[in-house]
Amino acid sequence: MYIANPFETPEHKAIRESVKRFVETEIMPNMFEWDEFGAIPWALHEKFGALGAWALGVSEIYGGLGYDDCFIRAIFSEEMGKCGVSGIGAAMGGRSISIGPIEAYGSQAIKDKCLADIVAGRKGSALAITEPSGGSDVARLKTKAVKDGNDWIINGEKTFITGGMTADYFVVGARTGDEGMMGVTLFFVEANTPGFSRTAIKRKMGWWASDTATLYFNDARIPTGNILGALNMGFLSIMNNFNYERISMVAAMIGMMKACLEDSIAYAKERETFGKPLIRHQVIRHKIADMSSRIDMIESWLHLICHHANAGNMPVAMVSKAKFSASKALEFVASEAMQIMGGAGYLRGNRIESIYRDVKVHAIGGGSEEIMRGLAVRQMGL
Ligand SMILES: Cc1cc2nc3c(=O)[nH]c(=O)nc-3n(C[C@H](O)[C@H](O)[C@H](O)COP(=O)(O)OP(=O)(O)OC[C@H]3O[C@@H](n4cnc5c(N)ncnc54)[C@H](O)[C@@H]3O)c2cc1C
Repeated sequence: MYIANPFETPEHKAIRESVKRFVETEIMPNMFEWDEFGAIPWALHEKFGALGAWALGVSEIYGGLGYDDCFIRAIFSEEMGKCGVSGIGAAMGGRSISIGPIEAYGSQAIKDKCLADIVAGRKGSALAITEPSGGSDVARLKTKAVKDGNDWIINGEKTFITGGMTADYFVVGARTGDEGMMGVTLFFVEANTPGFSRTAIKRKMGWWASDTATLYFNDARIPTGNILGALNMGFLSIMNNFNYERISMVAAMIGMMKACLEDSIAYAKERETFGKPLIRHQVIRHKIADMSSRIDMIESWLHLICHHANAGNMPVAMVSKAKFSASKALEFVASEAMQIMGGAGYLRGNRIESIYRDVKVHAIGGGSEEIMRGLAVRQMGL
């Protein structure tokens, strides 16, 4: 029913099978309960860690694979997306977007302290860039770090931080220099740092299973050794990190769209209206064709993106175009799937209902549709 990946290897196939099995046995039987409860058990982080979910691009001494493979990243995200409660992936995903900067730019001491625990799922970590004054314009972030002897003193606020209530470690963007993109530095901050505090953001539209936090830095003293990468060069690190986050989101959206398609087809085969199954009505058949074509387009695009990324040529323009196209496709597919289900789709406890609630966070988080379009056009040299 779906486009075959021409680049798929036996290793990819085997990993997909094991992630699929994990999702079906460890997540799907409990997912609606966790969603309503607003959290997942911590044991799930550790079980997912044991599967290698966060091992990509991380050295073997910390439990990593010692190599990266964009296809494998995509497989984990797509199979998690298929479960239909994407907040569960998000609950663990704050970790995945913060591992990259720690592995790439952290000192030996920082990596020794935290990486093995984060990769194994024993401890949580989160990426803190967005502020109450805005998330799109990263170059203008306001949280300030001022040098004081051998330390830096951070003051400011971060908000919408995924995993922020449960994380032990944070990668925090703060202003250390002049205004603009060349004045931002990334810091490694531990949750037990005096001057650091956090509150939970409740009552979200979706992603109920994922904790989201506002973080407060009140004269939080951070040693100079906790700077990740070069001083004032954090903006570029953040932008590089976004690529893998966006690719993972595209893959997750493909999983979510497949769940919508499969559930609505199953329902359309069973449900009878006007004397025949829904699937025999032309309008419904056309909806299915439209949904399926959008999935094919985004999926074949993802294969190409992963292929280029693995070859060392991150296709930034393609990634940004795929990100906004995927969220537009998801919006369409979730809506059409729910329409096919009629009233049944509107009830809690089915994948289409929870996916429908999670459409917008994919259109806004990790670079909104507007920002992705702007980036794509800039990448075209315009
Ligand atoms: C559930 C959830 C989890 C999140 N997790 C994290 C996290 O873990 N870490 C983190 O750092 N952030 C996180 N975010 C924040 C997310 O990345 C931001 O919400 C996003 O970048 C947009 O920022 P903003 O909400 O401040 O919107 P703003 O930047 O204020 O923009 C508002 C709207 O205006 C549009 N807009 C902005 N500028 C322009 C322009 N020049 N032209 C046209 N339109 C424009 C935007 O696209 C958006 O639609 C999360 C958000 C949500 C909702």
